[in-house]
Amino acid sequence: MSDLSTETARVAEMTWQEIESALAETRTLLLPVGSTEQHGHHLPLGVDVYMPEAIGARVTDRSDALLAPPIWYGVSPHHTFKPGTFTVSTETFQRYVFDVCASAGEWGIENVLLLNGHYLAQDPELEVVVRRLRSECDIQAFHVPLVNLFAEVAAEIRTGEVSFHASEFETSIMLELFPDLVSMDRATAVDPPAESLPLTDYDALGENAVGWSLTAADMEALTPAGNIGDPTVATEETGQALIEAAVSDICLLVDELEE
Ligand SMILES: [Zn+2]
Repeated sequence: MSDLSTETARVAEMTWQEIESALAETRTLLLPVGSTEQHGHHLPLGVDVYMPEAIGARVTDRSDALLAPPIWYGVSPHHTFKPGTFTVSTETFQRYVFDVCASAGEWGIENVLLLNGHYLAQDPELEVVVRRLRSECDIQAFHVPLVNLFAEVAAEIRTGEVSFHASEFETSIMLELFPDLVSMDRATAVDPPAESLPLTDYDALGENAVGWSLTAADMEALTPAGNIGDPTVATEETGQALIEAAVSDICLLVDELEE
């Protein structure tokens, strides 16, 4: 390491000279991608960004990868029934995320991991971005949906039957990361309908055999509070386990890319 090495891996906190020297050690960039959207009575609007940003920071503690400033605005038309939610069109989102990553390719980044904290809803857009980065910019890009990373651990430790939005998983992770931003006294369980369509499920880790999405009107009818599932069963310990699963999986990929 040169004498310009720094303690931080957050691009926004570094000088360009520190970036230059970091590039001697790594060519991998972690980009947290989230959304600013309603998360019920008990969680703040920034959950989908706070989670991947903090998980990314823990990955940089165990690797040389750099952590980019996050994408705060995502594709959230189904949450606009509550104030504070922002949404951008699928085209705007794709182009913006693509341009951000492509510009990092200009200064030497070869691998980009899109750490997606916005469950399921913007997966299709990010898959397209990954494809374009690989074919047009020669960047090894990966879509990393957090929900997939902790699926295995979640299956073992979950208490709630349904955890679709702002429920057990997200609340547990926020309790571990930012307890001051969680109001457990306001958390309420919201049951989804007893029956969903065949091949679909109101659970982020459920049996969703076909692609589907909800509109704002659907969401409003489903949940007056904004969450779907039971956040009252969330614990800091569950959050710790989920975060550790995600961090160690991402580290495996980063290590492989950095070899
Ligand atoms: Zn969320």
